[in-house]
Amino acid sequence: MTIRHAQGTYDVRFDEFNGTTHVVVTDSNLAKLYPKLIGSSPIVIEAGESSKNLDTYAYVAGQLLHRGATRKSTIVALGGGVVGDLVGFVAATYMRGIPFVQVPTTLLAQVDSSVGGKVGVDLPEGKNLLGAFHPAKEVIIDSRFLKTLPERELRCGLAEIVKYGWIMAPEILDELSKSDLDLQKLVRKCVELKARVVQEDEFETKGVRAWLNFGHTVGHAIEQITNYETYTHGEAISIGMVVETRVAEEMGLAGRGLSQKVQNSLAQHGLPTELSTKLSVSTLIDVMRRDKKSDQREITMSLVYRSGQCELVKNVPVEIIERVLA
Ligand code: ADP
Ligand code: ZN
Repeated sequence: MTIRHAQGTYDVRFDEFNGTTHVVVTDSNLAKLYPKLIGSSPIVIEAGESSKNLDTYAYVAGQLLHRGATRKSTIVALGGGVVGDLVGFVAATYMRGIPFVQVPTTLLAQVDSSVGGKVGVDLPEGKNLLGAFHPAKEVIIDSRFLKTLPERELRCGLAEIVKYGWIMAPEILDELSKSDLDLQKLVRKCVELKARVVQEDEFETKGVRAWLNFGHTVGHAIEQITNYETYTHGEAISIGMVVETRVAEEMGLAGRGLSQKVQNSLAQHGLPTELSTKLSVSTLIDVMRRDKKSDQREITMSLVYRSGQCELVKNVPVEIIERVLA
């Protein structure tokens, strides 16, 4: 599959990754699991979101220098979203930018972050506050990696797949309701959808790319106030999708009963659909107002109003969000 972007095109290949002569950057878990594939001298960062910071960024850039990487070098990001985002950001800036190849190894990264060119790191003040658009030179999606992925991480990716179904592709929901999931087929379908969206609205200025934020306005707020410890990203957006669809119902945008259907589609895959502990409604609202995607403290949500259709709604009434959360 070929994806167009402002500076050219790149291919997403659904293929086996069998090693490379380029420098590989990966995390400590993958380095242990796939030593042969990764080769003898990878740059290894500590696994986990806490590595997506400026210290690790400087470490990787330093290692590249140390290994003699030049403006002509290509680097390979082999890992989940953390590795992809961080290494992509190094690639975007190292000697003013070098190409990188993404080998996403989590379901989440395969269906979401590896396509679309967003790269970056977190700051102590918040996630993804420093970043760039730097599309990969090539993305290689190898389904074999998913065999070692922990169940909870797999579910995390499933939440994003369910999201694609509700916002734009009801056929995904049909596929997901089968007892025997064809993951490879689902990944391919989601990548096609993401490719369509980012080609239409690469820099998120037309409201189309923002559709992908269904569940994320509430989900990000939940993640943030629980310090990214209680819920995975997929779990938080799972709860977020249910809450946001209740909001759509209350606004009269969605018909009664839609949120129950959204809930069922998530629960079926072992995803949580409500908060396990009570969180402060006013703090949640406050975090949503400060979201980097909201304008002047107004809350914007991508809301599904019927299966496969959503719309970006600005200025969602706070009273309704409060009522639903309470
Ligand atoms: P995400 O893609 O969800 O943003 P991360 O990059 O944080 O996530 O990866 C989630 C966790 O899964 C990390 O601990 C990472 O080391 C681990 N991981 C990534 N890919 C695999 C895999 N194919 N097999 C086993 N563990 C993996
Ligand atoms: Zn997401």
